[in-house]
Amino acid sequence: MPLSTLCLRCGLCCDGTLFTHVPLQRTEAGPLKALGLPVREREDGTPILPQRCAALDGRTCTAYAQRPEGCRRYHCNLFSALAEGEVSLEEALSAVDGAHALRAAGGEREEALGDYLDRHFRGRHRR
Ligand code: SF4
Repeated sequence: MPLSTLCLRCGLCCDGTLFTHVPLQRTEAGPLKALGLPVREREDGTPILPQRCAALDGRTCTAYAQRPEGCRRYHCNLFSALAEGEVSLEEALSAVDGAHALRAAGGEREEALGDYLDRHFRGRHRR
């Protein structure tokens, strides 16, 4: 299925590239700790799941069936663009590969990563 193909090739919303943490509902903290995941708390006591997520293996979530609501609800803009037929799977995978390449390159190219993520993943997807 194209949408799962995209997510399994990506992982940017779980590996610390797009987010520093996932906000959790208080009832989610215990079950995630029981899975061995390092749940932390904000100053106000709100639980969070730090990113890069410890449940991520390569680009795959190993806690998929028990993942928190914040993970279930989140769709990046590239995902939405693919779901709505605004981009093809090939174009979406190319955008994902471009992000990973910028991150891997480091140096000046890595500085371009923030704009690239804004353009393809955070804001409205633009080609
Ligand atoms: S629990 Fe799974 S979906 Fe949620 S951040 Fe961790 S790896 Fe990603």
